Amino acid sequence: MPISQFFPLLFLTCLLSSCGSMQMGGNRSQYGDRPGPQNFSTVILDAGHGGRDTGAVANGLQEKAVVTDVVRKLKADLQNQFKVVLIRDSDHFVDLDDRVRKANRYGDAVLISIHFNHGPRRIAGPETYYWRSDSYSLAKRIQRELSAVTPYKNGNRGLVRRRLRLTRNPLIPCVLLEGGYLTNSREAQLLKTERYRATLAKAIGKAIREQSAAGDAGMGPIPKPIYMPPSKASDRRGSF
Ligand SMILES: [Zn+2]
Repeated sequence: MPISQFFPLLFLTCLLSSCGSMQMGGNRSQYGDRPGPQNFSTVILDAGHGGRDTGAVANGLQEKAVVTDVVRKLKADLQNQFKVVLIRDSDHFVDLDDRVRKANRYGDAVLISIHFNHGPRRIAGPETYYWRSDSYSLAKRIQRELSAVTPYKNGNRGLVRRRLRLTRNPLIPCVLLEGGYLTNSREAQLLKTERYRATLAKAIGKAIREQSAAGDAGMGPIPKPIYMPPSKASDRRGSF
């Protein structure tokens, strides 16, 4: 190729590639088909539900209130090491897609969405959901640390790969955890205590620190990416 034709092409290629990386915000990725995060600067905490959306209500507990308290405790634990961003800090409703949009303003970050579960009364214990390959290690560490401090672990699903709004749509590594079952009376009694909520927050914090220090090391084979469209409100319930 004559040099006079080569230079405009080179310029165009540079322009296109820089444009592409601007759209993806450097550390962001649509499918999460890459290694897990390490040495990240920011942790985004999403307290599930809020306002008119109470989440699960059982045994005298409201999910929206329990998650708000755990998120505040977790923020206090993490903020000496990370910039901590809260999706909501008061009792108001935030749409799921707005939570994703807010998280997507950050690049060098992970997103943890915190919930508590409801189901048959005998079921107890934590569950952790992820979708992207780059979120597997973080989810596995969170599930492991939560399980280690949870006395009741009856019939729960454990670590689950599922395409949800908060596990598929953010452009950063993201995990949704269910810290236990409000519908299990023994677990609910524990969750009423300040001390147990602090224990859960500490366990989640430990997992986040471990992920930042070690990345995917020691977490075994990372699951292959699955290329599926973003999750939508109209998706059939229970669809993968
Ligand atoms: Zn929930």
